[in-house]
Amino acid sequence: MAWDPSTWEMTNARLVPIPYFGGKLTGMPLVQLTSRVDGQSIWVWSIHNPANVHGPAAQHRIEALRRQVAELEPLVTAGQPVFIVGDFNDGKDGPNRAHCTLTPLLENAFGGPDNTGDPCKVPTRGAPIDHIFGANVTFASATVDRSIQQEKISDHPLVTASIGGGDTSCPPTDSPAEKGLTPDALLVLRCVDAEFGPHTYGGVGDRASNPGSDHPAGRAVDIMINNWNTPAGEAEGTRITEWVREHAKELGVTYIIWRAKIWSVARNAEEWRTYTHPSGATDPTSLHMDHPHVSVNAGTGLGGNDIVYPVPPQMAGADAHNWHESGYYWSTGTPEPTSRSPAEPQSWPHTPAPSRSTAASPGPADGWSR
Ligand SMILES: [Zn+2]
Repeated sequence: MAWDPSTWEMTNARLVPIPYFGGKLTGMPLVQLTSRVDGQSIWVWSIHNPANVHGPAAQHRIEALRRQVAELEPLVTAGQPVFIVGDFNDGKDGPNRAHCTLTPLLENAFGGPDNTGDPCKVPTRGAPIDHIFGANVTFASATVDRSIQQEKISDHPLVTASIGGGDTSCPPTDSPAEKGLTPDALLVLRCVDAEFGPHTYGGVGDRASNPGSDHPAGRAVDIMINNWNTPAGEAEGTRITEWVREHAKELGVTYIIWRAKIWSVARNAEEWRTYTHPSGATDPTSLHMDHPHVSVNAGTGLGGNDIVYPVPPQMAGADAHNWHESGYYWSTGTPEPTSRSPAEPQSWPHTPAPSRSTAASPGPADGWSR
């Protein structure tokens, strides 16, 4: 369990025994966090129900879910927001899947049909074994970020969910760049548009010359400036970047690049620093002479609060033991082929993945992706 200590304080915690491999009881952390901002308390439980890699574990998963429901019921009844997140390993469990047994006590962040008479609320979007359930909250969105998996930081994609209730909003625009943006990036695009008028924006997309870019994951917005090479264009871009910087916390901003300078939340004390493109390119676009670039966390601004479980880069390749059957679900998005024999080699690498620092281009010394 990890959280941002500037926002949350741990006010209660316990390890709840859940059957893991062979039914061996393993403590899984159930933590109460209280907001330092408004005093709101929430419960978050990070769980990992057993896979079949050390023998059939379906019965252990059934017992795990039974205990999880029993533990959460009084917390849900008490009325505070409650979340249970993790790898449920339940892709083949039919009516014993988590989204059959944890609902209707909790909602699946990926949604499902209501009032169908079917106790199984099948998620509408793809999160076959990694789930986020919550109670006493309203989910606004849920996303699956496969870039984590492609970079071999984990054999699972990053699953995130946003809850509603943010009190900052700006009206939608008709920009095609809105598509696929994370809540914070969407907030940046819409609020810049509302504040400074229509622009051409860049959102989700490959940045082949910059493997560390936040654009493919939808966590960045480019704001194109007309007449950027005139004093008026430069002044406009500067007004926009200063406004975004002033509102960095509400917008979930991590860093801004404009006119060969970078400012970041993490190095705020250094103000605007010299920026060079990771590829060494010095054309106006690479140096951001013609557009401010704004990177964001994903959903930490007031537009949404993400529940995430990321894998730290230093853990990449350090966890070779856990590359198991989940790969089938994530690599194809469909159930495992029935013809596959248990002895067949796994489709996922058992050799340690290259670490992120060697897989990515060297990049700038401060480690910021661009
Ligand atoms: Zn950009």
